[in-house]
Order: sequence, then structure tokens, then C-alpha cells
Amino acid sequence: MLLIDCEKCTACAVCESSCAFAAITVLDDCAVVNENCTLCGACVENCPEEALRIEVAEKRQQEDIQEFSGIMVFAECRHGVIAPVTYELLGIGRKLADQRKVPLSVTILGHGIERYCDSLIAGGADTVSLVEHENLAQFREDIFAQILACIIREQKPEVVLAGATAIGRSVIPYVATLVGAGLTADCTKLEIREEDGMLLQTRPAFGGNIMATIECPHTRPQMATVRPKVMAPAVPDPARKGQILRIEALAEELRSAVEVLESVQSDEDQVNIQEVEALVSGGRGLASEKGFVLLRELAAELNAAVAASRAAVYSGWIPYPHQVGQTGKTVSPKLYIACGISGAIQHAVGMQSAEVVVAINRDVDAPIFNIATYGVVGDLYEVIPELIRQLREVKK
Ligand SMILES: Cc1cc2nc3c(=O)[nH]c(=O)nc-3n(C[C@H](O)[C@H](O)[C@H](O)COP(=O)(O)OP(=O)(O)OC[C@H]3O[C@@H](n4cnc5c(N)ncnc54)[C@H](O)[C@@H]3O)c2cc1C
Repeated sequence: MLLIDCEKCTACAVCESSCAFAAITVLDDCAVVNENCTLCGACVENCPEEALRIEVAEKRQQEDIQEFSGIMVFAECRHGVIAPVTYELLGIGRKLADQRKVPLSVTILGHGIERYCDSLIAGGADTVSLVEHENLAQFREDIFAQILACIIREQKPEVVLAGATAIGRSVIPYVATLVGAGLTADCTKLEIREEDGMLLQTRPAFGGNIMATIECPHTRPQMATVRPKVMAPAVPDPARKGQILRIEALAEELRSAVEVLESVQSDEDQVNIQEVEALVSGGRGLASEKGFVLLRELAAELNAAVAASRAAVYSGWIPYPHQVGQTGKTVSPKLYIACGISGAIQHAVGMQSAEVVVAINRDVDAPIFNIATYGVVGDLYEVIPELIRQLREVKK
């Protein structure tokens, strides 16, 4: 962390001008750092008073690291239904386990979920650790984290994978803290390094401008959350055989500080943009909320759902669940039609694995054309009505 000695600081603001991330400002008589700090050290080097220093936490080498073996996937259930990301995690988990020549286990917590064990084994798991209890019917971060941590301490997997979903993002950091392990969030690529079996965890960094590969050499398990729709699920093999391990949760593990009074599904658009085959996506180029009326018309012709860039979401034209990109969802439909979207890197990381990308933009130099399979240079308010007309014509 960056430490500031206010006794030495003269509020000269040299640090402020040397910071590329707007992470340090002078308030009153001393510099103050905010959460944008990347610990790049530029301010430390430039401070004429030597009032700044970076303190690096002491490296902790876990002693029983050799005892950890195997890959574990956390199977996510929402309202008693397995989330598709679970099968994607099993797909990549299987590859990692085969490369490491270790078993792949999946841990599932819930109530009335035993029926999923066969499909988890068909999806690639060698073992299913099943924890069933009525207190687990609803997701509650504290009890899920306690139980997962207990299973990890018992089974000692070398790698733990979970979805970078709302549930995964809330429970997995909790588990990592309980077991004292590192965690890489939002991975888009996972590989094993041949020489030493280390898990290489790749994710976008610095606003998506670079891809960072992170390793956790000193502690186990190596924990990672993986964005939905980034990894391919394994082809299910109903003939696969596996073991089901029924685990009883202890009474104290099942005690939660949270009481779920009611579970309400948002009555906004129910479509999950990650689970459809075609998306018509709108950006700032739509100029107003009305643009989405036109996009919905096109989507209806294509049996597609509607998505958006962050600019459109921030303008209040469409709710957040439709956002594609680094801070939205990653999608990989067969068809992605980008309308009035420039193709900023933070948007592109969320849609570039679509099979076919069609871009409609009036700026011939828009970066979206670099990733588009087909590009139409023109005003979307002229192009889309013509597209709808021709689609209707073809259907006749
Ligand atoms: C940390 C961080 C995270 C981010 N996360 C995301 C994210 O998850 N998703 C995301 O999308 N963005 C994200 N962004 C924002 C991103 O950098 C861009 O600002 C955003 O994607 C721009 O949205 P846009 O393409 O709709 O708008 P613009 O970049 O303004 O592009 C609008 C495009 O529409 C075209 N256009 C205008 N009028 C018409 C017309 N009538 N017909 C045809 N074309 C027209 C223009 O030529 C232009 O290319 C993030 C940014 C940061 C810093």
C-alpha cells in the first residue's frame, strides 16, 4: 500500500501531476490517495520530500502447499436451478484436471438439488460434493462461505473455480479470506504452466487495455472467478461415471446473520442476454431511448434480444442487465448487431467472441469495424428500417 507521511508532505502537489490515474490529490496540507491507485510508484519517485513510500506486504509461504491436489468447481444454483456457468467451469476444470492428472470435483449447496448430480458428472466432474439442507434453499453469503471454506480445508484442492456472477463475486472473496488464499477475479483465460503446474490466471487490467496474467505461488488453493460465456462447456457424456459425496453441514455452519424475507424477480426484461443466440445492441449513436424501439423491432424479426453499450445504459435508455462489456456481461451469441456503438475496448471485450458481428455506424473509422464480420457505414435510422423491410420481404 501507498503510505503518506504528512509530517514531511509540503502539499507541493508534484505527486498529483505525476499520477497517470488521478489517484492522489492534495487536500488541506497533505496528499490523499484514493482507490484508483495502482501502486505504479510514479508519485514515490517524484516526491521531492520523500514523503511517500510503498509498503509491500510480507510474502507468506504456506507450509502444506504440497498437500493440495485436484481441481474444485463451485456449482451455482439460483432458485434451485443450476446456473449455466457451472457447466462452463466444468469444461475448463476438466481440461486443467487432465493436464495436471488430478481429479475434478464439484461442490453444490442447496435444497432439493440431488437430481443435478448426474448432469454434473456428465459435464466432466469425477466427484460431486453434495450439501443439502433447507437452510441452503436461498443463497446466503455467510453460510455458503463457511461451508465452502470447510470443504476446501478438508479436501485441499489446488485450484478452486467459481463463476464471476453476482453470487460468485459475493461468496468467493469471503471464502478466499476464510482460507487465507489469493483470488483472481473475472478471469477470461486459465492455463497450467507445464514446468511447475502453476495456474496462470489471465484477466483484463487497466480498464481493459492490457491482459494481466496472475499467479499465486505462495498459497493454496489458487482461486479464480471466471466470467460466464467465456469458457466453452464440455460436451455432456451421460455414460461418465462419478462419485457422489454427501456432506452434512454442521449446525453452527448453517446459522446465518441474514434472514431472507422474500425473493422477488425483477419485472424488467427477463431475457438473459448471455443465453440467447442473437443480440441487437445499441449505443450512444441511438441518440435517445426511442432508438431502442427500433432495435426491438429488428430484434423481433431475428428472434433476438436487445443489448447495449455502457453509454446507452448510463443515459438511462435501457437497464443495466442489458449492458455488454467489461463492467457488464460477456456474451458470445451467433449474431451480434452493434448499432451506433463505437467499439471501445471495454465494450469489445464483452462481445468479440460472437460468431458473426455486424456493425452499423456512420463513422467509417469507428473501431467496431475492426472486429466486425460485416460493416454497414451509414445512419442507423436509415439502415435499420431498410434492414427490417428486407427481412420481412425475405420472410414473405
Ligand atoms: C473502467 C471502464 C469500464 C467500462 N465498461 C464498459 C462496459 O462494460 N461496456 C461498455 O459498452 N462500455 C464500457 N466502458 C465505456 C467505454 O469506454 C465507452 O465509453 C463506451 O463503450 C462507449 O459507448 P458507445 O460506443 O455507445 O458510445 P460512443 O463511443 O459515443 O459511440 C457512439 C457511436 O455511434 C456512432 N453514431 C452516432 N450517431 C449515429 C447514427 N445516427 N448512425 C450510426 N452511427 C452513429 C458514432 O459514430 C460512434 O461511433 C467502460 C469504461 C471504463 C473506463
